[in-house]
Amino acid sequence: MRHDFAGHGASRGLALGRARVRLPHALEMAEQRVPAAQADAEAQRLHDALEAARAEMRALREKLQGALSKEAFEFIDLHALLLDDPELVQALETLVRQERYSAGYALRVQRDRLAAVFEQMDDPYLRSRLDDLDHIIGRINAHLQRREPLPRGTAGEVLVCDNVAPSELAQLQAQGVVAIVSAAGSPLSHSAILARSLHLPLVVGAAEALARINDGDVVMVDGETGEVVVDPDAADLRRYQQREQQDARARRDLERLRSKPTRTRDGVDIALYANAESREDVARAHALGAAGVGLYRTEFLFLQRNELPDEDEQFQVYRDAVLGMSGRPVTFRTLDLGADKADRTGLSLANEDNPALGVRGVRLSLLYDQVFDTQLRAIARAAAYGPVRVLVPMVSCREEVLLVRRRLRRAVAAVKRRGVVVVTPPLGAMIEVPAAAIGVHGLVDAVDFMSIGTNDLVQYLLAVDRNNDALGDLYSPLHPGVLRLLAHVIGAGAQSGTPVAVCGEMAGDTRLAPLLLAIGLREFSLHPASLLELRRAIRECRLDSLRERAGKLLQARDRSAIERWLQEAVSR
Ligand code: PEP
Ligand code: MG
Repeated sequence: MRHDFAGHGASRGLALGRARVRLPHALEMAEQRVPAAQADAEAQRLHDALEAARAEMRALREKLQGALSKEAFEFIDLHALLLDDPELVQALETLVRQERYSAGYALRVQRDRLAAVFEQMDDPYLRSRLDDLDHIIGRINAHLQRREPLPRGTAGEVLVCDNVAPSELAQLQAQGVVAIVSAAGSPLSHSAILARSLHLPLVVGAAEALARINDGDVVMVDGETGEVVVDPDAADLRRYQQREQQDARARRDLERLRSKPTRTRDGVDIALYANAESREDVARAHALGAAGVGLYRTEFLFLQRNELPDEDEQFQVYRDAVLGMSGRPVTFRTLDLGADKADRTGLSLANEDNPALGVRGVRLSLLYDQVFDTQLRAIARAAAYGPVRVLVPMVSCREEVLLVRRRLRRAVAAVKRRGVVVVTPPLGAMIEVPAAAIGVHGLVDAVDFMSIGTNDLVQYLLAVDRNNDALGDLYSPLHPGVLRLLAHVIGAGAQSGTPVAVCGEMAGDTRLAPLLLAIGLREFSLHPASLLELRRAIRECRLDSLRERAGKLLQARDRSAIERWLQEAVSR
């Protein structure tokens, strides 16, 4: 029967497909008993699931050999031990055979018993092993629940899950997934950024998704509004077709702006750069007339693989991006692994209690000498094919920039010794750590350009995890503190003659263009999918009147005052 619910739109696009439900590890199983005659079969089902989970752990261990840290292997071994633990296995068997519980319900009962024991432990380390127990129970349950896979190729699939990692997105799309609905997640996560780049519709924070969608249901997903319709009726399908036609018309209208300049009504040219993660993004950026690539996220080349890309492989990817922009600059951001971009890479990353505050971005590059030097040499080689810039993520102090500059010069020298003719590319810093933003005066003479990463800057400034949906509206670039800090950085750039761009998702939010122009921004870097829309929004602005009203904007004391300012700006 038709029903609908909503999450948050995180990657635009409409999709219609059959649901593939991926259950989370958490177990919510209602009490269920099986008739005595079925107890043997149920016990066998349980043993098969246990055996499948064990085989999975063995395969995982083999596959990740050499690619994971010692700590990560310890986890795998601990999980394998738990799967053989008589405390678990025999108790489950007894529950199924004697109590005649279904295998799933037996799992839940035994999990709760063991959890009660864990929770009473004094040692916090042992207490925290409850997570491992849950992980294992979830794994066994996933095998118990496994049904016949949907027939391939008959329809696109909509993946319905608790959450999705950035590293699995491309693979899912290649498998025919046409949209994703996740119960958790946020539109600012790296998964959302990547989904937008792949043009894969994504709805996040749809808390009811797992409870209300079954495998094989037909689902209609709107990645813009966050609407999810299960079992759409004739009216929904008509609406779907109409929306598709409207979208096609809107795309045609926007297409007319392809060859137009990005110029305000009072004649000021604004530079629109593109963010890119792939060859396709570069091609689109070029076709849409982007001024260059303002942010090439190189880490995506390192994800979902067990070995590191070598210098040649990286060089070819970077060179193709440079060739793809035919003379317009390409800004390669050096590796920004860590935090939510670490789930599978060719590096042995240690588990950290606080990954967002840990070894990520430039910190990681400075720790892994060879990885960094290899990347810098690959970028330097690509610079022989056209203008290249190097952008350093997660800079928190001047010393880091100076160290990177030295390393970059060395890489260029090494490449020159091989006979390649290159100049040292301009070096820029991402301004995304609050200390770097506040202390920007200490950076301006050490860099050639700056790019504000509002995604992280907002998270660190407001102490709000960009991936935590539970914090809802608290994550907002429309906080007076955020705006003042942006104005401070942009002002410092203008004073010192250091170009400043914004490359976080805020730059691609066309609604916010008047605000960013008012505080002095002249360079935007955004995903190509929104480039023409931003061009249209900027062409409707008058810079002189926005600049006049900047004072009022910066005096705003709360988000609603900023929202009002924005409304007034567009109604003028
Ligand atoms: C940012 O933090 O705004 C940014 C552009 O970098 P990323 O989203 O890759 O962290
Ligand atoms: Mg960032």
